Amino acid sequence: MTEYEAIVIGAGPAGSTAAREIASRGHSVLLLDRASFPRDKPCGGGVTVRCAALFPFDITHVVEHVVTGAILSAPNAPVVTREAHAPLTYMTQRRRLDAFLVERAQEAGVEFRDAHAVRAITERADGAFEVRAANGDTHTARALIGADGANGVVGTFLGFEHPADAAVALEGNLRFPDGIPQWLHGRVALSLGLMPGGYGWLFPKGDHINVGVGGWKHVAGPRLRAALDAYTRSYGWNPDDLDAVRGHNLPMLRAGVVLTARGVALIGDAAGLVDPLSGEGITAAVASGLAVSSPASDYLRGVTPDMRGYQLALEREVIPDLVASRGLMEVFHAYPAPFVWAAQHSGRVWRAMCGAISGGKGYDAIVQSTGPLAHTLAPLAKVARRLTVAKYGPR
Ligand SMILES: Cc1cc2nc3c(=O)[nH]c(=O)nc-3n(C[C@H](O)[C@H](O)[C@H](O)COP(=O)(O)OP(=O)(O)OC[C@H]3O[C@@H](n4cnc5c(N)ncnc54)[C@H](O)[C@@H]3O)c2cc1C
Repeated sequence: MTEYEAIVIGAGPAGSTAAREIASRGHSVLLLDRASFPRDKPCGGGVTVRCAALFPFDITHVVEHVVTGAILSAPNAPVVTREAHAPLTYMTQRRRLDAFLVERAQEAGVEFRDAHAVRAITERADGAFEVRAANGDTHTARALIGADGANGVVGTFLGFEHPADAAVALEGNLRFPDGIPQWLHGRVALSLGLMPGGYGWLFPKGDHINVGVGGWKHVAGPRLRAALDAYTRSYGWNPDDLDAVRGHNLPMLRAGVVLTARGVALIGDAAGLVDPLSGEGITAAVASGLAVSSPASDYLRGVTPDMRGYQLALEREVIPDLVASRGLMEVFHAYPAPFVWAAQHSGRVWRAMCGAISGGKGYDAIVQSTGPLAHTLAPLAKVARRLTVAKYGPR
């Protein structure tokens, strides 16, 4: 049995960030992942400029394409191209990004073990945790961080409420060995309202385009593969050429949920921190990994009796944006036409969208700055949700 001060389960962006930051505060940290690295994960790999700014190092090494604009389409609306004239999103492949982030954690002193699936966790009477892996190895630590993603086991073992799996997405890669088409250079294509509760996307990478569709699980889920094929065909491409087609849940936070108790905390997708409007989750994964590190260190040093500071930090820094995003998502999907028109034609709305992506202002700050929307978003979202539930059934 090996002993550490902290064990982080899951080496996605959330886990590698938390492990790195806790280790850099002087603690012994074990980072475990069930997959053999480098590993891929169903994801568009879009890292917003807002997210990239959270890393204390440059991620250029794993960036395959820089996005500065968007081609926005929607049913019954024209196709409009908008430019930000500045980077919005860095396109990466998760296989490379996550391995790169793990290396940064190892440089900070983290011990990393891949191909190490966690099968059982027990909490001892002294408050420490025993973590047993599939290969029989057992490790102990006083602090345990659950970063094991959408279908994670840490929360389940320790009695946390599971996030809502309200949305789901499917993606695959189309090879363009001679380079991606010129019209997609520096741009993403977003087909808004393609599916109830979601959209379709084209993300340009180095030698391929990532094609994806997502939406509410109960309506979009059964139709995802057909929708992905039809979406691919709509660009004149053959869906049979899609490589590595994979889908995954997009876990969303339940209101008022508790994400830490004693020496354990859930971060990233394991905590349900996916942005409800965009389906983007890497930013909150990294932000939650950062947010947990100081409370974990204080707990390990005996300064605090638990990691409650993490919940407070999330409520201050991450959750207000998710709540605002959820409100906007509800209203958008109930009344898509004016939103699509505004995204395509209003300079103010386009600048606000760019601000949310590139980091000037989060959703909450944008909503607050609009004045009337700040007061009406919550009741409007309630009505909007009722409308979409009446139309598509309960989520
Ligand atoms: C189709 C799709 C497209 C997406 N596109 C984007 C996008 O372009 N941009 C964006 O920001 N977000 C996107 N997201 C969301 C994003 O992928 C997630 O929010 C993000 O990966 C969350 O990071 P994480 O570190 O919390 O979890 P993950 O990245 O899921 O990492 C969890 C890790 O835990 C490991 N693990 C699981 N169980 C165990 C176990 N029992 N023992 C040990 N290890 C375990 C897994 O192997 C995995 O490596 C997309 C999601 C989907 C489904």
